[in-house]
Amino acid sequence: MKFRDKRNNEIKEAYAIEIRDKKAYIKFVENGKQYAYYEDNIEIIKPLKEQSKREPFKIYKLKKRCYRCHKDTTIYTYIVFNDGTNENVEYPWDKKRLLKNQNIIAHLQDPSIEYYGLLVIGDDERLDALIMNHYSDRIKVKYSKTQGRSYPMNLCEHCGAQQGWYFIYHEINELIKDMKEIPFEDI
Ligand SMILES: [Zn+2]
Repeated sequence: MKFRDKRNNEIKEAYAIEIRDKKAYIKFVENGKQYAYYEDNIEIIKPLKEQSKREPFKIYKLKKRCYRCHKDTTIYTYIVFNDGTNENVEYPWDKKRLLKNQNIIAHLQDPSIEYYGLLVIGDDERLDALIMNHYSDRIKVKYSKTQGRSYPMNLCEHCGAQQGWYFIYHEINELIKDMKEIPFEDI
């Protein structure tokens, strides 16, 4: 396993790390001497696989009427804070925190929604990849003329029409403003 020595930013390979009484006792080789570090001075680096596996990740399921065939379809998206933490936005909605990173300019141009500081499908590459792994048959990367870029979009389960970013972002803003719950599943 690896750890980072915060004092000099060096990453070292350890044979074993034992945490006891705010200290980390580190052995570099199997029968070697044990070195004591203050726990606060080191950071144990977890393998990448473990990091993504343990990450709590909520997928919200919105029922929306498809603009093309007018039938109800399910839209899958994450909803996370856009303050750099990528934490799930959860019910009861923390509007105060969501307004801290509100897109004020967009809100002034289009006062129909608050433009809360949140990210949904199509906003974060890493989370997009995670959600696409789970719903590969329902979410595909498609080109959007409105946005002038390609990003993952939910497809209508009846007619295959692309459900664009604004449509989803708009709906979530409304539901949060009205303090309505949105069903989800943990993955
Ligand atoms: Zn449709």
